[in-house]
Amino acid sequence: MSEITLGIIGGGQLGSMLAIAAKKLNVKTVIFCDDTDAPAQNFCNQFVTGSYDNKEKISEFINQVDLVTYEFENIPFETLSEINKFKPVLPKPSVNRLIQHRLAEKDFVNKLNIRTTRYVSIEKKSDIDALEDFLPGILKTTTLGYDGKGQYPIKSSNEINSLNIDFSKGYILEKHVKLKKEISIIITRFSNNKYEIYEPIENTHEDQILKYSKIPAEINEKIFNQSRDWAMLIAEELKYVGTMCVEFFIDRNDNLYVNEIAPRVHNSGHLTINAFNVSQFENHIRAVCGLEQIPLNKISNAKMMNLLGNQITHYRNTQKFNDNEFFFDYLKKDIKEKRKMGHITTLV
Ligand code: ADP
Ligand code: MG
Repeated sequence: MSEITLGIIGGGQLGSMLAIAAKKLNVKTVIFCDDTDAPAQNFCNQFVTGSYDNKEKISEFINQVDLVTYEFENIPFETLSEINKFKPVLPKPSVNRLIQHRLAEKDFVNKLNIRTTRYVSIEKKSDIDALEDFLPGILKTTTLGYDGKGQYPIKSSNEINSLNIDFSKGYILEKHVKLKKEISIIITRFSNNKYEIYEPIENTHEDQILKYSKIPAEINEKIFNQSRDWAMLIAEELKYVGTMCVEFFIDRNDNLYVNEIAPRVHNSGHLTINAFNVSQFENHIRAVCGLEQIPLNKISNAKMMNLLGNQITHYRNTQKFNDNEFFFDYLKKDIKEKRKMGHITTLV
């Protein structure tokens, strides 16, 4: 029986699902979150709340744990590297710093000779004037973006004036890719060349927010292999420990691009809870806590639907689900439009 107490920074649904997986492995969890209503407090052993730069609260947190991981990437680097002086942080703080910055992340991926969308750094409005070949494009904040937040689709450079963009922040301008499909690879790296890798998952977004995921992805063999190879190369190069996700675009000519990397468990991997012998969450706990690596085994094909905003209500009122349906309610206090409130996975 393990005697490990794992600290998790972030208390959203990913934190909840990590805590549930940890419990199964007899790993205790302490969650640290800046939101007093964080849903993951329903699933962990201890809950500490405070802002991500509150030194006192952070030391209260680290005194209770053996090691620390995180469920979202937008944590100040200073916080992670400070914690790392006392307790190991996995994945390493330097990995998080690289990936939380879109420009650094894309430069890193390109250095590995992996295709990304064309992109350019934008520091001021006039930078966009001479960049017609990046248009139509999407202007994205270099940091703190998620679920399409901080993104502005731009067709021509004069549109910028009407958009009221705060150029005190850094941006990248990315060429718009004519998408045929989006897929993701979820991979758990344990140590040098030791991985568990899930098959590609096909994802459908609505308003830049993930709506549906399914396996198997309908893709050709070349893309199947290339996406796995690229995810492995990225994980190895980062000396990553834990579960991470690589999001990909496939264009209309079947070219594969890395869109972005998430240094954490990922929404598109929720179906792994029911469709595999070991979920992405359990694999993350196993890897960071140094527990046994178990070969992945697929139980079933599956599809997952995110329940956003009010869509949760119908499912909360459903008395009985079919045997192949698995409903998860994130137990968030307030229903907000487009907020991820829960999901339903169907084995098919
Ligand atoms: P986030 O951090 O919000 O997930 P992403 O860069 O992954 O940001 O963008 C969210 C979604 O927006 C993508 O999954 C895709 O559907 C769409 N998108 C983003 N960038 C592009 C692009 N360059 N070309 C086409 N679609 C894009
Ligand atoms: Mg994304």
